[in-house]
Amino acid sequence: MPDDLLERLRRFHDHTFPGAQDTFENLVRDGQHPTILFIGCSDSRVVPYLLTGTGPGDLFLVRNVGAFVPPYDGFLQGSQDACSADRPGRRTQLESARRWVGFHGTAAAIEFAVLTLNVSRIVVCGHSHCGGIRALYEGAPAQARNLIAWLELGREAVLPVQLSPEALRRTEQRAVVLQLERLMEYPMVRERIEAGQLTLHGWHYVIEDGEVHVFDVRSGTFVAASKAEHSGTGPYAPFFEEGPPR
Ligand SMILES: [Zn+2]
Repeated sequence: MPDDLLERLRRFHDHTFPGAQDTFENLVRDGQHPTILFIGCSDSRVVPYLLTGTGPGDLFLVRNVGAFVPPYDGFLQGSQDACSADRPGRRTQLESARRWVGFHGTAAAIEFAVLTLNVSRIVVCGHSHCGGIRALYEGAPAQARNLIAWLELGREAVLPVQLSPEALRRTEQRAVVLQLERLMEYPMVRERIEAGQLTLHGWHYVIEDGEVHVFDVRSGTFVAASKAEHSGTGPYAPFFEEGPPR
C-alpha cells in the first residue's frame, strides 16, 4: 500500500525545500524573530499563512480547538457562580474544567511569545462554521473529557437563543472577544499593551467569503477587512485615544 504521506515528505525535501533553503538557513543562523503571535482554531480550513500573506519565521503560531485562551491563573473567573444546583451536569463540566486547567500549552506559548520573542501583535482568530463553538451548544462525546473541559473557555460567549447559523456566527465572534479579554489577564500582556509595545487583534474569518472581519472595540462590532480602517483593536483601546501604537 503506497504511503502518500511519506511521498509528500520526500517531495518537500527534494523539490520544495531547495527553493526556500536560504530562507531557512538564515532563520537558523539568526534565530526566529516573529512579530505576531497568532492564536487560531485548529480547523483545517483556517490557513494563517494564506490569510496573512506570511511565510517561514513570520508567525509564532498556536492552534487549539476554538482559538481559546486559558486563564492566566488557571481558574475560570466566576465559574463557581455559574454553577446551578438544578443543573448538575453543568456543575460537573465546570468542576472538570477547574480541575484540568493546569497544563496549558497555549498559556505557555503566550508567555514565551511576549516575554522572550517580544512579539508586537497578538491575533486571536476564530472562524465561521467552527466545530468547537457548535459543540458549546451540542456537546461533545463523554469520553472527550479534556475537550469538554476546554470548551468551558468559550462558555460565556453562548447565547440563550435557538441554534441557528446567525447565533453560531455571533457566538464565534463573542468568543473571540472573550479570549481578548482573557489575554488582558496576563500581566505581561497588559503591561506591554499599556506601554504601547503590544496590540491585540480579534479576527473572525469567514471561510466561504475568504474574508477576515476584525473586531473594532470602539463600535463593538466586527468589520470586514475590505471596509476596516485597521487590523483590529481589543478591549485595551481606551488606553489609546489616538488609536493603537504604530
Ligand atoms: Zn474552529
